[in-house]
Amino acid sequence: MIQGRCPICSRRLEIAARNDLPSFPFCSKRCRLIDLGRWADGTYVIPGAPPPEKPEVSPGEPDDST
Ligand SMILES: [Zn+2]
Repeated sequence: MIQGRCPICSRRLEIAARNDLPSFPFCSKRCRLIDLGRWADGTYVIPGAPPPEKPEVSPGEPDDST
């Protein structure tokens, strides 16, 4: 049994094995992508391009298509 907490939405995770949750330590692929996006925000800056407008991602928000 592996227990943890999703760093993005703070959901409690309880899985029998890592294989049960490929996105571990995130609760879902979606949360993992959100985390990746946060890193990318500060890491990959395209010279000359204005930063994309991004609304804050808040937990409990319904699915958005970005
Ligand atoms: Zn999550």
